[in-house]
Amino acid sequence: MRSLTLYTCCLLSISAFAQDPAKDPKLTEVWDPKPKVVTPAKISSEAPSDAIVLFDGKNLDEWQNPQFKGEPGTADDVEKMLKQWDPNFKHAEAGWTLKDNELVVKPGNGAIETKRKFNNFQFHIEWLAPKAEGKQGQGYSNSGVFLMGLYELQVLNSYENPTYSNGQAGSIYKQLIPLANASRPPGEWQMYDVAFSAPVFDSNSTVVSPARVTVFHNGVLIQNNIALKGVSAFINAPRYMVHPDKMPIRLQDHGDLIRFRNIWIREL
Ligand code: MG
Repeated sequence: MRSLTLYTCCLLSISAFAQDPAKDPKLTEVWDPKPKVVTPAKISSEAPSDAIVLFDGKNLDEWQNPQFKGEPGTADDVEKMLKQWDPNFKHAEAGWTLKDNELVVKPGNGAIETKRKFNNFQFHIEWLAPKAEGKQGQGYSNSGVFLMGLYELQVLNSYENPTYSNGQAGSIYKQLIPLANASRPPGEWQMYDVAFSAPVFDSNSTVVSPARVTVFHNGVLIQNNIALKGVSAFINAPRYMVHPDKMPIRLQDHGDLIRFRNIWIREL
């Protein structure tokens, strides 16, 4: 069974587009410029002493299934979801697979999220996009790290796999093109190191300071303290909406068997 996430996205996309050509998801795809290709060095990064270890290969104790299984298509859908968000929701255990000390997406389960919630942080995650015959573009080993559960740092095989630049690995999905393509080939481990500053809202729920993000992909700087435009949206432009000061980190189920390891975070 393919992921409900995918079904939700596709259904939302198809029905929205059928009604209104302005909701065609292709309108927000940017294909040029293409980030230059950089071959990353062979380095690894273990958790420093003050990090909260979110996954070390032993268990999924730090993770749970989120309240909402599917993914919203537009910023309006995200807003609806946030309004229904219940901080006292009784979560099911994280439904992904622990195999060979790795955390593997379970297609159909939907996303998983951290039990803990975070505001400003430094974050490290390692991921592997499996090799696959006949897959391409956004369909080739897709997942994502949703910072605060709302801002997607794209996980995708982007090694010799063309797609729109603002949707390739290291992009903030449909918002920010990475400064370089530091992707390793599919089947090899890769890592993201992220510094994230949460947005600040005033008492009128207006954003007074946007979220900012810095990302290293395999040690190569790909996002340089850049302001986000709002929550990630598949269709139409991103925009800001008020949300709690602390939110979980969410990992996306896009129907592909992405593997993760060595996940840690330092609160700032
Ligand atoms: Mg994704």
